[in-house]
Amino acid sequence: MEKYKRILVTSALPYANGPIHLGHLAGAYLNADLYVRYQKLKGRQIIYICGSDEHGVPITIAAEKKGISPQKIVDEFHSRNLKAFKQFGISFDYYGRTSSPVHHKTSQEFFLNLYKKNIFKKITDKQLYDEESKMFLPDRYVKGTCPNCSYNEAYGDQCEKCGSSLSPLELIEPKSALTGKTPVLRETTHWYLPLGEFQEKLSTWLDTKKDWKINVLGQVKSWLNEGLKDRAVTRDLTWGVPVPLEDSKNKVLYVWFDAPIGYISATREWADLKGDPEQWKQYWQKPDTKLVHFIGKDNIVFHCIMFPAMLMAHGDYILPDNVPANEFLNLQGRKLSTSKNYAVWLEDYLLKFPVDPLRYYLSINAPETKDADFTWQEYMARNNGELADILGNFVNRTLAFAKKHFNHKVPSRGPLNKMDKEIIKILSDAPATVGTFFEHFTFRKTATGFMDVARACNKYFNDTEPWKTAKTDRQRCATALNICIQACRTLAIISAPVIPFSAEKIWNMLNLEGSVLGQCWDTAADFVIENEHELGDLSILFAKFEQKQIQGEIDRLEKNQESEPDKTETAAGEKTKIKYEDFSKIQLKVAQVVQAEKIKKTDKLLKLTLEIEGRQRQIVAGIAQHYTPDEIKGKKIVIVANLEAVTIRGIESNGMLLAAEDDDGIMSVLSLDRDVKTGANVK
Ligand SMILES: [Zn+2]
Repeated sequence: MEKYKRILVTSALPYANGPIHLGHLAGAYLNADLYVRYQKLKGRQIIYICGSDEHGVPITIAAEKKGISPQKIVDEFHSRNLKAFKQFGISFDYYGRTSSPVHHKTSQEFFLNLYKKNIFKKITDKQLYDEESKMFLPDRYVKGTCPNCSYNEAYGDQCEKCGSSLSPLELIEPKSALTGKTPVLRETTHWYLPLGEFQEKLSTWLDTKKDWKINVLGQVKSWLNEGLKDRAVTRDLTWGVPVPLEDSKNKVLYVWFDAPIGYISATREWADLKGDPEQWKQYWQKPDTKLVHFIGKDNIVFHCIMFPAMLMAHGDYILPDNVPANEFLNLQGRKLSTSKNYAVWLEDYLLKFPVDPLRYYLSINAPETKDADFTWQEYMARNNGELADILGNFVNRTLAFAKKHFNHKVPSRGPLNKMDKEIIKILSDAPATVGTFFEHFTFRKTATGFMDVARACNKYFNDTEPWKTAKTDRQRCATALNICIQACRTLAIISAPVIPFSAEKIWNMLNLEGSVLGQCWDTAADFVIENEHELGDLSILFAKFEQKQIQGEIDRLEKNQESEPDKTETAAGEKTKIKYEDFSKIQLKVAQVVQAEKIKKTDKLLKLTLEIEGRQRQIVAGIAQHYTPDEIKGKKIVIVANLEAVTIRGIESNGMLLAAEDDDGIMSVLSLDRDVKTGANVK
């Protein structure tokens, strides 16, 4: 932090074409909010910027489906989403919208700046055109078969099945999403950002980002390895920011050109509103600003390659310091699907349940380096067993005890014993320890961090047995209680980023001045509550849930499920027991890797050629983020030899290698202690 004076945090602009669900929250909003709330407690100068993305084809398609104007759609979802985010405690300093005049002006200026520097290539070529609806079919206006995985519902910009990014012309048997007709080819002219010309500059810059998350660097490196290609930054559409050139009728800026500029225009609007219109420049143009983009993994290429290239080309702006992208959140063991209503919608959740248990569970179970799974059962278990039984119980028993035995006032401390000193040490270490997790974007640990402190406090209460010393050793009892009350204050502050509403409740129960939000992180463990301080009213911090409360949610999802659940796994992630006969059906063999290469357009996959008893076979393995082809070449590994062949990205895979994966997503391929011939059975 030392090199920076201020921090600018952004979260991906959500499309204003539908409501927010848990997948959004876990991807790019809750983690950003935790970071911002922590930095504010640290006393740092920081702003948090976001807004609605109101352009792009998903919006116009949603409008056409409903038979209303795009403006009507974005007006509705802009206000609904903003309200839901606020209720969930997402603490934006400003939430803009890309249909605003300031945004249109800012992105047109940005485009013209690059245009005047001759950065763009103007290219005329043939694109798909729907003769019936009389329009070109960019991005999601065209559907067809994915050339990589043969999925027949792939979009013109991306295949959602295999994740590869596509252009409309790559689709096999393309069909118009509007009319279902087969499009024709027609000439049109567009402006392209020649990303290849930025390749070297981008590589050099990205090479300095050693501390970025491995899932992000893995994806970025695979794009760079493939070689960056020109990308059109304009589209033949009428909804969007008009291209500010004479010869560009009925053309708008590509949504991924204008959306990231939305961060800049929203910061401008924030500064205007503060009555200091130039202040946005501090945040975007001074190199002592730390810029952090929070996004989901599907946006990595835009935030780590395309937007930085645009910023480099412009020259007046800083580049992001970090892009801590998250992976995806699954739901009850299956992929979320908004179209099948297989999702938990935030608005719906807020009507039925309190905010903090969800913030806590989504933090502790964040898809930080690999996909995570949300289950209602674990949600309830975390609330009942941790928030209520540990943190809630500790605060409640401490304050109830003070009420009963010390007239609702803070008793004074006498001499400290070993147990007192131990808990004081745990408390005084906590701000620095838990703080490090925020600084390093390891948010799962921020939630376990404060809960571990609460657990230690609960144990301290048990071990000191104040209910006994109340009768036998009044001073000992008073000392323990004083420490417990001070600990409640520490816990309120260090838990405030994750569970802000409950932290405020603790603050009020302690009857302390101001709000927990205005406190100082570094002095959270100072014992500043004075003797004889009068405590506030007690209330329940976390109510426990009963099965029937969550059963309705589970039943609804079961009804909307799109595929069979994986019934071999329990909620705790443990597999059910199997018989030896079941295990013996699996044929495990030793194989040697003779050749390895990365699979194009993927960041995780390696194609391995194996040798087994003189015969060759080919498998696809998801280890590219953990092993380079050279590292794995020559190794003897263990494979499942009798697995049915599958085709992955058009490549046949005849077996599966065995590897261990830890909670952080780090993988280690199983190898052998002694040199064994290939073909040897593993049992
Ligand atoms: Zn595909």
